Amino acid sequence: MPKRVTLTFDNGPWPGATEKVLTFLAERKFFATFFMVGARLDDPNARALAERAMSEGHWIGNHTLTHGAPLGGEDGARRFADEIGLAQQKLGTLAHPRKFFRPNGGGALGTHLLCPEAVEYLAQNGFTVVTWTSAPGDWQPPHRHWIEPALADLARDDWTVLVLHDRFIAPQIDVLARFCDEAQSMGVEFVQDFPKSCLPIENGIVREATEKISTFA
Ligand SMILES: [Zn+2]
Repeated sequence: MPKRVTLTFDNGPWPGATEKVLTFLAERKFFATFFMVGARLDDPNARALAERAMSEGHWIGNHTLTHGAPLGGEDGARRFADEIGLAQQKLGTLAHPRKFFRPNGGGALGTHLLCPEAVEYLAQNGFTVVTWTSAPGDWQPPHRHWIEPALADLARDDWTVLVLHDRFIAPQIDVLARFCDEAQSMGVEFVQDFPKSCLPIENGIVREATEKISTFA
């Protein structure tokens, strides 16, 4: 089995940025998932990018309504229904039918990112929660140094789910191209789906791994 990588782009769509990422992916014939911030779709230019992404074969997931504080703890328990539910409404038919949701916030998935009430809501409403294996830090200035840790993650794991951000990658498509070239020279296959290990909730079914959601500090 060749090594695999799944590309994901979070926090968009960003007019002026997302189109550059889409054009690159189309040239390479790679298919990714864009985890979008629901409120951004109020901007017609952003919505048009989401429509373009879907029409070009990419998957669109929910990355909360406002990308505010993580949905953990008591504060998360007050906000999760709006942050998840209203974002899903804004995505509407653009959302992939598997109802992909990725929580916002840093670190491994735990109750600081998703309170138990949010987990319950995601399960009852048939969502599929998507985590990641590699968040190499494209958001950190000068933004171009993510490639080394990303390649190290590819070398370490059989299936890497990479988190990048359209906004930060668009000005450095050359680095993304170099990453893809190196990955392909390592024999890594680009795939769109996710390993089960990155789906703690799938189609509303809470998997064993989600034990970690309720026990993680
Ligand atoms: Zn995010």
